[in-house]
Amino acid sequence: MVLPQRLARPLQSARTWIALGVLAPLGMLVVSGLMLLDLRRDAWDKVEQTSRNLLQVIERDIARNVEMFDLSLQAVVDNLHAPGLAALDPAMRHLVLFDRAATARDMGVMLIIDEHGAIIEDIGAIPPRQGNYADREYFRVHRARTDLGLYVGRPIVSRLTGEPMLPFSRRLTKPDGSFGGVVLGSLKLTYFSRLFDQLGLGPGGAINLYLRDGTRVMRYPYEAADIGVNIAGAPTFERFVGARSGAFIGTSVRDGVERHYAFTQVGDLPLVLNVAHATWDVDAEWRAKALGIGATVLTLCGLTIGLSLLFGRELVRRAAVEAELAHLSHTDTLTGLPNRRRFDEVFERAWKSARRTGKALSLLIVDADHFKRYNDRYGHTVGDAVLKGLARGLAGSVHRPNDLVSRVGGEEFVLLLPDTDEAGALRVAAEVHARIAELAVGTAGIGAGAVTVSIGLALAGDHDAAAADLYRRADEALYRAKARGRNRTEFSPGSEQAPGGTGQAPGGTGNERLGLLRVIPSHGTAAM
Ligand code: GH3
Ligand code: MG
Ligand code: MG
Repeated sequence: MVLPQRLARPLQSARTWIALGVLAPLGMLVVSGLMLLDLRRDAWDKVEQTSRNLLQVIERDIARNVEMFDLSLQAVVDNLHAPGLAALDPAMRHLVLFDRAATARDMGVMLIIDEHGAIIEDIGAIPPRQGNYADREYFRVHRARTDLGLYVGRPIVSRLTGEPMLPFSRRLTKPDGSFGGVVLGSLKLTYFSRLFDQLGLGPGGAINLYLRDGTRVMRYPYEAADIGVNIAGAPTFERFVGARSGAFIGTSVRDGVERHYAFTQVGDLPLVLNVAHATWDVDAEWRAKALGIGATVLTLCGLTIGLSLLFGRELVRRAAVEAELAHLSHTDTLTGLPNRRRFDEVFERAWKSARRTGKALSLLIVDADHFKRYNDRYGHTVGDAVLKGLARGLAGSVHRPNDLVSRVGGEEFVLLLPDTDEAGALRVAAEVHARIAELAVGTAGIGAGAVTVSIGLALAGDHDAAAADLYRRADEALYRAKARGRNRTEFSPGSEQAPGGTGQAPGGTGNERLGLLRVIPSHGTAAM
């Protein structure tokens, strides 16, 4: 497919390729960076969503179980007021008191304790097991306060079963309003550990259940030493109790690990639940992906930049080689002057331009006289040296940037002088004769004045149909110059009216010689 010129040109420029080679990887980097940021956001969104879901599931389970448990405790409190209870035999009384009591496997003990701390009824045994609980925290707070409702105490080890439990209790009030003891129900801590375990949180994850006073009830992953520890003063805990629910990133007082915490209060209970993910864990998966993608993209970018730079350098080199080749293809190797090809190109353009603008155009064909003799006498090397001297002399005779001096044949040169009229061209011809008259090749014993040239000069005229016509007329003038004795200029004017001229070129300055020019009519036919 051929690309339109306008598109093809920039693609050949080294700069375009280098710019593309740098911009494209930059674009790739930006896009990959945005993608990675997006991936990271996704990872965090996933963690937040997971935490929220887990919190909801756990919170509902605990709230529902505790509510059932409390209903059982309230039933015991109510049943204690049943008429004729005291008259019933122990088995019937047991049945009436604990009829709605939870028999779930996680229930530890359920006891009715009198105002002195002694067990008076025990869901697990008739007659009740013996024990005194006056020293228990829940017993003391109920004795001191009447308004507690359901009281959730700190984790304890059951004196009856030896298992760790979370005590739930309600106050018993005598008809006169005085303290009548407590109803105690305890939930095995294994309930919480089992609940947390089955949720399958990742290795860096943690679930904590706290009392509002800062006491840890349960932690996943479980460690016995964590239970009962109070972290009330910790900054993280202050945030747990600062709102009903929320999420934040904080550092654990337990192990110093930075975690993302999602927390909520459990129902209306004085319990705070949180699900935590180590931030490092969240980022680890993302980091692995980012490293993989980043390394690949960076490698590709490096490759692209490298290849573009190489390609750009190659284009620059190629352009330089092409320029050099173009220069060489237009240059004569012996004299360094523009060659025939170059002349043909410039001549055609100059002739058309002169036609269009109406400006003068002069063409001088300069041919060394009897050049064969130099070769025959001194050899080719000296002949070449003379040619170089001729080239220097001709080049020195023109002064305008648009003047062209070219070697078009063995010992034949042309001077193309745009915007130059007859007088100007004759002046240049005179200067050529003068300069060549000074040419000497000392090593070969060729002195000044030994080398001469003949010049055929023609001015672009109305009758020329093509550039070739102008050249032909200059050539004819040269032929005349040779025929009329050489070392002279013959002139072919551009129009019928203009005079033709021949000039002889003795030594002296161009202007002096101009005065000696012998002007004769020449219509380009004399020598034919
Ligand atoms: P005329 O005055 O009639 O022009 O005589 P001439 O000997 O210059 O004419 P002719 O065209 O017959 O001979 C040209 C000679 O120029 C032929 C050759 O020996 C010589 N010549 C042409 N090209 C070169 C070149 O590149 N190097 C050298 N050394 N000589 C060259
Ligand atoms: Mg010659
Ligand atoms: Mg010749």
